[in-house]
Amino acid sequence: MTDRSLPAVSFQGVTRRYGGVCAVNDVTLDIASGEFFALLGASGSGKTTLLMLLAGFDQPTEGRVLMSGTSVSDVPPHRRQIGVVFQNYALFPHLTAAENVAYPLKMRGVARAEREARVNVALGLVNLADRGSSYSSQLSGGQQQRVALARALVFGPDLLLMDEPLGALDRRLRDQMQQELKRIQGELGITVIYVTHDQSEAMAMANRIGIMAAGRLLQVADPETIYAAPSNHFVARFIGECSILRVAAMDGGRGYEIAGARQSLPSPATAPFDIVVRPEHVSVHAVPEVKSDGAFGVPATIRDVTYLGAGWRVALELSDGQSLLASIKRGDEVAGDLAPGKPVVARWAPASVAILPTEGSS
Ligand code: ADP
Ligand code: MG
Repeated sequence: MTDRSLPAVSFQGVTRRYGGVCAVNDVTLDIASGEFFALLGASGSGKTTLLMLLAGFDQPTEGRVLMSGTSVSDVPPHRRQIGVVFQNYALFPHLTAAENVAYPLKMRGVARAEREARVNVALGLVNLADRGSSYSSQLSGGQQQRVALARALVFGPDLLLMDEPLGALDRRLRDQMQQELKRIQGELGITVIYVTHDQSEAMAMANRIGIMAAGRLLQVADPETIYAAPSNHFVARFIGECSILRVAAMDGGRGYEIAGARQSLPSPATAPFDIVVRPEHVSVHAVPEVKSDGAFGVPATIRDVTYLGAGWRVALELSDGQSLLASIKRGDEVAGDLAPGKPVVARWAPASVAILPTEGSS
């Protein structure tokens, strides 16, 4: 029995070097039992290497990997009770869907009658109960990936690892499979570690997201926190659109000044800091409308306007030369008046701002 109060997985100071390349650099991370955890990062950031270290196909250069509190360094891959799904389904082409799914059971010496029963359950779980006798060449990409998922789940693993599993599918199918993976995870209560380079996929699916760059884990948090309070410049830029603005701290960090405009912060920040402003938090105002009300507003010029259907994406240049993005919804008063070259005033609320330590300052 696994103890669900212990982390399902712990990486403790895990480093993997290949010659001069540090693929995974000092990663320490606990993943709770039953969690849907997304590892998010650009290509080459070390995501697959971290999964391979956990699955046992590779060994750390330093540090250790634990499952339910026990080091797995001496446990071979097939004894780690881990199901793995890769992007390129990796089905055996000469076997039917049912034979593919039965394979891990055969390897584990499960008797034929029980094998058949469990294969049927697993195929039912992925909605392919009627396709057991089909070969890969007779199945669509989405169906092949379902077979791969059934094969990863059929032996009842404690942990499911998925490495960019939906990357080869088109958008509509991907959305549908995302929903289904969430459903299946809920039904089984299994711990999932899901690797992706697609931030919207990570946001849509995960309880928590770990962001990787150059082998390091930069931030681990729930999707809302990652978006609202990124811990550094890289994470802010990687997740969603934003503007990172240089400001001058005032009153011991209780506020800041930008292009002559001053704003107080809800809680003091340690100077020097930059601010992160998301486009949906920026409002754009015609100049006469705001000229004398004294509220916070930064003089700016419209540089570019992109029509997006539901609204516009507006690129502004602040009077101090910095760039700011705004998203303007259809129906905003200023909407009919957006034109490159036009002078405007940009505003945002103090509570919508995220604070970042200025890079190179620590
Ligand atoms: P990701 O899955 O995020 O794209 P990887 O874990 O595949 O990243 O790779 C991380 C880094 O480690 C890359 O620079 C990659 O070239 C390097 N790397 C991965 N596997 C090996 C290997 N077997 N030998 C040498 N370098 C490797
Ligand atoms: Mg990879």
